[in-house]
Amino acid sequence: MSSLYRAPRGTFDILPEEHVYWKYVEDKAAFWCRLYGYRPLSMPIFEDAQVFTRAVGGATDIVDKEMYVFQDKGGQDLALRAEGTAPVCRAYLEHGMFNLAQPVKLYYIGPTFRYERPQAGRYRQHHQFGYEALGEADPVLDAEVIEMAWRLFLSLGLSGVSIQLNSIGCKTCRPRFLEVLRQHYSVHAENVCADCKGRLARNPLRLLDCKKDYCRELAEAAPKTLDYLCDDCRSHFESVRDYLEKLSIPFHLNHRLVRGLDYYTRTVFEVEPEEMGGQSSLGGGGRYDDLIETLGGRPTPAVGFAAGLERIVLNLKKQNPGIPPLPGPVAYVAYLGQEAKTEAVRLTSELRKDGLAVIMATGDKSLKAQMRHADSLGSSCVVILGREEIQNRTAVVRDMSSGEQRTVAEGDLANVLECRKHPT
Ligand code: AMP
Repeated sequence: MSSLYRAPRGTFDILPEEHVYWKYVEDKAAFWCRLYGYRPLSMPIFEDAQVFTRAVGGATDIVDKEMYVFQDKGGQDLALRAEGTAPVCRAYLEHGMFNLAQPVKLYYIGPTFRYERPQAGRYRQHHQFGYEALGEADPVLDAEVIEMAWRLFLSLGLSGVSIQLNSIGCKTCRPRFLEVLRQHYSVHAENVCADCKGRLARNPLRLLDCKKDYCRELAEAAPKTLDYLCDDCRSHFESVRDYLEKLSIPFHLNHRLVRGLDYYTRTVFEVEPEEMGGQSSLGGGGRYDDLIETLGGRPTPAVGFAAGLERIVLNLKKQNPGIPPLPGPVAYVAYLGQEAKTEAVRLTSELRKDGLAVIMATGDKSLKAQMRHADSLGSSCVVILGREEIQNRTAVVRDMSSGEQRTVAEGDLANVLECRKHPT
């Protein structure tokens, strides 16, 4: 039987059996955030559209082509969350967090929406986990943010992950670099791809990370941002690299790395999986020292990182590093006859009150069918109630893996099941 409706193109349901991966990643993310002093922040799923247009930049693909924008019934222009950093900065300003001790460290996990051409690892709704350290320019924080991303991916058990690193300068030194870059491309303007022709005028930095073959070749031969950094940016980047070396965090300098959002300044980095496809980065981040000012605050340096959960899950499935299964119910309560069913209702309720994950049979299935059901739910044992058990105030406990059965007094049942409980 097929349903009348399907999840919209580029979106999908995360089914119960998939949640083992999601919980694994979310738990690891929350673990590292706590260790590094990041506190959770939940933002609305939609924002004033200007939060994104001003922060991310009108010449970026995200704002130009991909944002889900709509007007609410009050006529306000809103946008579904297109990325996480700008809303975090909006919240930082709205709640006066600049008055707290700096840096303020925040993290979030939630859905992100971009109208993209769906393909493996690229969806119209995806989920991002991100963390931001706001109010501090010290390069030690850049290194810490990168170290934390590295530790997270290592702890997930993913192999072959690498860190790509670059610095794209600041508003002092970047204009000069862009000029040189435009000169380099002016000779080749006819040959670059259609997208890059547009970028040449509107956002030339993005020419460097075009994935098309010929554009890639040109980008390889293009001037490097690192050669045009002002003194402050150069020494900031040297310090970031020194700290990373001290921390033994491996990284690859990548002069083509520029990121797809306009707000970045100085340090930019990406986490790449083993097999680098066209659009494959697992996560990316960097410094954005002008963004909070763009959103109406005082000049406030900041640095952060965001990773896509779907891509992490795809890579976990590919590499299968041994993810612990989610615990099933400790017991399934089966019954024989109506009288036993009424007792089963009471007993199940008592066991749940005792904190045990218990599922009760329903309907009038045969005992064999109830066993099959228990097995399909991954229950470790079945508690069977029949006339005799009710009379004696006992229950039969059947171990599902060995098939062994024993009779247990009702008063001892909770303790017997407690011993079989999965660690949570
Ligand atoms: P960005 O905000 O573009 O820097 O993206 C951060 C991370 O989110 C990327 O490294 C990806 O892992 C993930 N991501 C971005 N766009 C998508 C998408 N359309 N579908 C799935 N994951 C995405």
